[in-house]
Amino acid sequence: LSTRASSILNALEIPTSEPIHGVYDGAWGGSGDVHESVCPTTGEVLARVHAATPEELQTAIAKSRDAYEQFRHVPAPRRGEILRQIRESLAKKRDDLGALVSLEMGKIRTEGEGEVQEFIDICDYAVGLSRMMNGRVVSSERPGHTILEIPNPLGVVGVLSAFNFPVAVYGWNLALSLAAGNATIWKPSPSTPLCSVAVTKIIAKVLESNNMPGAIATLVTGGNDVGEAVVESVDVDMVSFTGSERTGRKVARVVQSRFGKILLELGGNNASIVMPDADLDLAVPAVFFGAIGTAGQRCTSTRRLYLHRKVAPEFISRLKALYASVQPGDPLTSGTLLGPLHNRTALDIYADAISKLRHADADILSGGRRYEHAPFDKGNFVEPTIAIPRSADAHDAIWATETFAPVLNVALFDELEEAINWNNAVPQGLSSSLWTRDIRNVGKWIGPAGSDTGIVNVNVGTSGAEIGAAFGGNKSTGWGRESGGDAWKQYVRWSACTVNFSDAAPLAQGVNFSA
Ligand code: NAD
Repeated sequence: LSTRASSILNALEIPTSEPIHGVYDGAWGGSGDVHESVCPTTGEVLARVHAATPEELQTAIAKSRDAYEQFRHVPAPRRGEILRQIRESLAKKRDDLGALVSLEMGKIRTEGEGEVQEFIDICDYAVGLSRMMNGRVVSSERPGHTILEIPNPLGVVGVLSAFNFPVAVYGWNLALSLAAGNATIWKPSPSTPLCSVAVTKIIAKVLESNNMPGAIATLVTGGNDVGEAVVESVDVDMVSFTGSERTGRKVARVVQSRFGKILLELGGNNASIVMPDADLDLAVPAVFFGAIGTAGQRCTSTRRLYLHRKVAPEFISRLKALYASVQPGDPLTSGTLLGPLHNRTALDIYADAISKLRHADADILSGGRRYEHAPFDKGNFVEPTIAIPRSADAHDAIWATETFAPVLNVALFDELEEAINWNNAVPQGLSSSLWTRDIRNVGKWIGPAGSDTGIVNVNVGTSGAEIGAAFGGNKSTGWGRESGGDAWKQYVRWSACTVNFSDAAPLAQGVNFSA
């Protein structure tokens, strides 16, 4: 193991010799399949992690259930205090965890640290929430009656997460779920096991020092089979799934068929629209970050750019200049803006998208190739790409598919309504952004005939959301909402309780049923 990798792992108390246990349910274990964590920058195998066997998984689910049955009695503000301690422990390891995200996932250092900061922020939010998860008192139509809507803990929440946010997505779920009084069982991406082991070690210490069962925050690493078993289990009350549309469709069917609760955060295919009155000093760098940040592997990455014909030549020439200035590099080195793609599959997705663009005779303005010279040949580095497809038809696969790589497709429009139609014509509905100074355009954009995505920005790029608002998308993005806003309401079991304090027992709606 390189000294750089071992110093990052040592700082997070991850063993650098085998076996590395990938299961935690109050105790560390795991003797199932071995999953390699491969560094996307160098190709180095960072570690081999032992996943859960089917039996170990069932034990972990059972322990999570027991932990929930204990934890649901802990008062919510006390649960908040545990979250506050988790927040403090994460903050102490923020830079080390951020470095591990860069090492294992491949995003640049500030984005890796930013991801850990999101976890810290959502813990702060959930600490406050733990004193504000209020139900309601509803006026009854019957004398001497009161109706209460009570949020009770839900049970065990299965969190299945994607490779591109190996820390933050779990954080969003854990913080709300734990504040609500649930146990979570986390099945991370098979290619980022070290991030999940490091995070779980930090949380486990806090739980254990508070004499809480560790299985409140269970970890089961493993492949799709482990994910399938979590999804199928009737002991998992809610499945919060973050990943591709393809997997999300399968997961949703399984959970629906057993009448479980489901929260889906699936693919995005996000557009930025630039009007002639836009401030290009703001819009060009924002589109640049949106398209290239995390090497185009954010669910909110900008994939489609709609430029008003009047502004297109200047916008394109300024954007091309920024693209030309960007050099690939080690994501751990400060100043690098473009890290590698996460794995070989991502390289194939990129190559396939470029070949389809070439086949369709698109105008490739920038990029389109892998970096194949040393030292980049060892990692998964690709040139960020800008293309103008021949057709702007948003139903065409080039426009309608989420390509999880830095490929930005551009089309020109004359009227805002046309661009809004294109924005809305794709299956996905996660994020979108409009660049304008004209309040009439803003009114159209955020109104009933405006953008149909879950995140609708104005003079702000498509990626880089804060934790305070509910995060999620519509249509094939799955309609789920996580993080802020009213998202916490999904992590509880609502009870509508009519209580009769009177000496009579009248029926609702004045129904008379006396014998
Ligand atoms: P993926 O769908 O391949 O995998 C996601 C998770 O599902 C992994 O943990 C995987 O092991 C598991 N899995 C695979 N098959 C399964 C099955 N049959 N049953 C249960 N679990 C199974 O996704 P990925 O390639 O890791 O991530 C990229 C995708 O995630 C992109 O589409 C991206 O847009 C999306 N994403 C969405 C959001 C959001 O908030 N909307 C956030 C991050 C990523």
